[in-house]
Amino acid sequence: MKGVNKLRNSVDCLTGLIPYDPKYLPADTFLSANENTDDIPAQVRALIMERLEKLPFNRYPDPLANNLRDAIAQANGLHRENVLIGNGGDELLFDIALAWGGPNRKLLNLPPTFSVYAHNAVLCHTEIVNIARKDDLCIDEPAVLDRLSQCDIDYVVITSPNNPTGDVASRAFIEQVLEASDALVLADEAYCEFSGASVVDMIAQHKNLVVLRTFSKAYSLAGLRLGYVFAQAEVINELCKVRQPYSVDAISQTIGLSVFESRQLFQARIETTIEERKKLYEALCKIPGLKVYPSEANYILFRVDQAESIWRALFEKGILIRDFSRSPGLTDCLRVTVGSAQENEAFLKALIASLEEKELV
Ligand SMILES: *Cc1c(COP(=O)(O)O)cnc(C)c1O
Repeated sequence: MKGVNKLRNSVDCLTGLIPYDPKYLPADTFLSANENTDDIPAQVRALIMERLEKLPFNRYPDPLANNLRDAIAQANGLHRENVLIGNGGDELLFDIALAWGGPNRKLLNLPPTFSVYAHNAVLCHTEIVNIARKDDLCIDEPAVLDRLSQCDIDYVVITSPNNPTGDVASRAFIEQVLEASDALVLADEAYCEFSGASVVDMIAQHKNLVVLRTFSKAYSLAGLRLGYVFAQAEVINELCKVRQPYSVDAISQTIGLSVFESRQLFQARIETTIEERKKLYEALCKIPGLKVYPSEANYILFRVDQAESIWRALFEKGILIRDFSRSPGLTDCLRVTVGSAQENEAFLKALIASLEEKELV
């Protein structure tokens, strides 16, 4: 066949895959992406600007971002070899999928959860074994442990707090998962600053644990792309084999280090978000007809009749939240990010007005 305006097919696994779509739309109030409502503090921005002023742009960055690695390792009682920085947590999720997935290999996935894990597995030709969450959207712990005992799973992802359901996996359960097999266990702790729970202290005892963190949520840097993982040196070394050498640019390294060094300045706003989450949860629970899921993250999932039209009514009032109503296991579910007191009030007011319009309350 001659190549006259023809295109050979792409790889088979892309058939039917839909590109990730954050469903960003113009709005007055953005409560759809679990971002921090506040940008970084002015004094941190000033420090960053001062450092960027002196940054050479003509040189390649340190491929492993060792200054940032050292700072993060030290703060967690670990060593440089136990930390890897990525271009967003998302890049590291892909590195893990590449290094532990592949043809004839299996991911144990616990849906409904972050869609990126399954997407990456498809790209890597990894078989996905799903253990659905229970009706309350919490992990079916006995089913997970039972499945792992077959010892054919290559890696498992436990998201804690889980996105979008908001629940935290218990330490005892994660320990049981770690001991159930030799599968790599990824604890995705993208939102752990809002739950106060982490298993990073288990790294020393468990060869098969990797813990993921990000600067995108609690540390207000979604506009950059910076995430990191903790693991024993052996795991980090395997991830280094698949990663893109210069994926974390010099600007991100400089900003990340400045924010990490200033991290105590973020503590008060993390606490405010936790207080606002409690207020928002209680307000949502008071609305008749809503099923609200408890959350330890900076978002709340709720179930409402006619979710899609409620989502639209909110959007028409200038408020963007995330519609999960067509996602498997999340029929009629919407997720709202915890914003400022003002944003949360605007959301609640618009939600009640929308329910009244549809005569649902
Ligand atoms: C946001 C998020 C991440 C990482 O996001 P990045 O912006 O790429 O760092 C990882 N896991 C979950 C569950 C998330 O919600």
